[in-house]
Amino acid sequence: MDTNKLVRDNIRRLKPYSSARSEFQGEASVYLDANENPMNAPYNRYPDPLQGELKAKIAKLKGVRPSQIMLGVGSDEPIDLVFRIFCEPRQDNVVAIEPTYGMYRVCADINHVEYRGALLNPDYTLDAGRLLAAADEHTKVVFLCSPNNPAGNLLDRDAMRRVVERFDGMVVIDEAYVDFSSEPSWLTELDHYPNLIVFQTFSKAWGLASVRCGMAFAAEEIIAYFNRVKYPYNLNLLTQQFVSEQLDHAPRMQEWVAGLLARRTVLAAELAAIPWVRKVYPSDANFLLVKVPDANALYEKLVSQGIIVRNRNHISLCTGCLRITVGTEAENNALIRALHA
Ligand SMILES: *Cc1c(COP(=O)(O)O)cnc(C)c1O
Repeated sequence: MDTNKLVRDNIRRLKPYSSARSEFQGEASVYLDANENPMNAPYNRYPDPLQGELKAKIAKLKGVRPSQIMLGVGSDEPIDLVFRIFCEPRQDNVVAIEPTYGMYRVCADINHVEYRGALLNPDYTLDAGRLLAAADEHTKVVFLCSPNNPAGNLLDRDAMRRVVERFDGMVVIDEAYVDFSSEPSWLTELDHYPNLIVFQTFSKAWGLASVRCGMAFAAEEIIAYFNRVKYPYNLNLLTQQFVSEQLDHAPRMQEWVAGLLARRTVLAAELAAIPWVRKVYPSDANFLLVKVPDANALYEKLVSQGIIVRNRNHISLCTGCLRITVGTEAENNALIRALHA
């Protein structure tokens, strides 16, 4: 597959902005090239547009090459860039599993690109045939999310592989919750599939949602397009340095995840033991989808007690469902007490 052919003509032809920091790379003693203020080091200087130091660390941790990484302001940025790089407004379309994360549709709407939701099975498993049948010659991108949001389940790996192998466009696999899951990441498959894009984020397991740092991984040619289209200095110096420091604490992150998984098991059992709870769906993420008799009423009741969960009642295949993030032991206990009251 020639993935270059999937790229919009204007993007393929784009002459990207050439910043001072990208025209001269290396060490010098006098920098008079970027109209910066010479005072207030180190914040007076423009940051590294391609985040070399941070990417070197991430590459080592994830077992990929730095040239296969794009870093963005959350996953929001690479999601939007996928549309801007591959989808001709008012002409191309994307196909996504449904239900899933809401940002794919919002970015499609903003970019005036048709969004096609392909329903999962009622138990939230993936029907690769149905998904592929929703695509046509104008479909440039397929969005998969595993573990999926809001259901929390991993999609079947063989079904996902069928999509990656049979679809002749780009396939995004959003792995925002991969650190909580029992299955390995798709990052190991990057070298086999030139049409694969994997998203991960620092917002969940790493506990850095407020920092806004997301990762896209793909073949070097695809990452080169991301780098040309993104704002030159999308990640500021503070973010680059702080995330780099946080990466030194991977063992602490693993401990957090282990604790969270233990609390998820307890919370799932406590929820399932409530007689009127209809179903607690199996989860490979840091949240549980729970089916109840009247989701709207229960949501309001919890709000009135200062406990906020996510009401997914209006989402396809999620009628009657609340999505509950696994919190601290005290937070989970407060929820359970409120549900028994
Ligand atoms: C939470 C979440 C993200 C993270 O988004 P950021 O912009 O990185 O905070 C990405 N994808 C899914 C499916 C999510 O649920």
